[in-house]
Amino acid sequence: MDLLNTLLDKGLRRELPTRDEALAVLATSDDELLDVVAAAGKVRRQWFGRRVKLNYLVNLKSGLCPEDCSYCSQRLGSKAEILKYTWLKPDQASEAAAAGLAGGAKRVCLVASGRGPTDRDVDRVSDTIKAIKDQNEGVEVCACLGLLSDGQAERLRDAGADAYNHNLNTSEGTYGDITTTHTYADRVDTVQKAHAAGLSACSGLIAGMGESDEDLVDVVYALRALDPDSVPVNFLIPFEGTPLAKEWNLTPQRCLRILAMVRFVCPDVEVRIAGGREVHLRTMQPLALHLANSIFLGDYLTSEGQAGKADLDMIADAGFEVEGTGEVTLPEHRATAHGGCGSHADADAGAGCGSHGGGGCGPCGSTAQEAAPEEPVHEAARGSEARTDLVSVRRRGAGTDLAPNA
Ligand code: SF4
Repeated sequence: MDLLNTLLDKGLRRELPTRDEALAVLATSDDELLDVVAAAGKVRRQWFGRRVKLNYLVNLKSGLCPEDCSYCSQRLGSKAEILKYTWLKPDQASEAAAAGLAGGAKRVCLVASGRGPTDRDVDRVSDTIKAIKDQNEGVEVCACLGLLSDGQAERLRDAGADAYNHNLNTSEGTYGDITTTHTYADRVDTVQKAHAAGLSACSGLIAGMGESDEDLVDVVYALRALDPDSVPVNFLIPFEGTPLAKEWNLTPQRCLRILAMVRFVCPDVEVRIAGGREVHLRTMQPLALHLANSIFLGDYLTSEGQAGKADLDMIADAGFEVEGTGEVTLPEHRATAHGGCGSHADADAGAGCGSHGGGGCGPCGSTAQEAAPEEPVHEAARGSEARTDLVSVRRRGAGTDLAPNA
């Protein structure tokens, strides 16, 4: 297939595909899907080998957010019955982080709900970063605290943060349909502040909110322009009690095409499968490891993932290996250029408020349509059945008395 040969060559050379080529990946048929995965998988292996980086989420502060991100179970007015608690103390957060690190994670992502941190909040998180770093040599820490004010990124860096996450989530054109309490430009500004402070920038998207293929390509090209070291790809978890509860738009095949498109557009960037992995990829999760080089271990912010042991077994069974703390995530040219993603002595990427697994910040979109069986239907327009049975609100780990899933 000429398209895939072209995309493979470009990916190996780190050359940007055309928008039409990226759109064509999303429009491939089920018959072509394994060829798409094989081509994008070669790009993945060129830059990341068979390594899988494990990241571990610690939700420092859950729920009660004044923002109205439609995808988020922690949003203003959310009726989702999630855990709600205020700031964890540094020793509580450190204890949760230790469980993830013992399970094989090399990065801890410290996430807090809210529009953005106060200076007092930055102090709290700085204390938490120090507590985690004091007890875990070589750990990478990413903060995800919402919109940053001037000087806060520098303070987090000085406290030892390696990375900062803030997701764009969706295209500029549809952003206002998802959130009204802040803007797309606000989000871009925070990613740029993190970059400018020398933190490794992590910024990604949420798929499945009803966006078009063009929207998906728009946001991925916008991310490439921002040049983050890592790109988390979330698949919307339609939480009951949020405005997007009925948005079951994704199939496993659609998720694989999206991940392949992101890999082709951002070939040498850490592509991380984030929230919604188990819910939408389901038994196709191992195939997605050929596209992404990073996942979250265990649970998400407000929902439960599969058992941490199942994550590890999946990686081993699929023929991949967990990336060690001594290994640098990013290819040398990126790690050197950014001081970032992968070299934990410097900076790295993470995940944050807004999208890991329906915990944080997102919009709304087209609902699944049933097509007449004899009529060909474009995959993007074909919805999957609601799998509410696969959505479990997190009831263990941070903010509870029960042991975390790691
Ligand atoms: S994504 Fe973040 S800012 Fe938006 S509602 Fe959720 S917690 Fe608040």
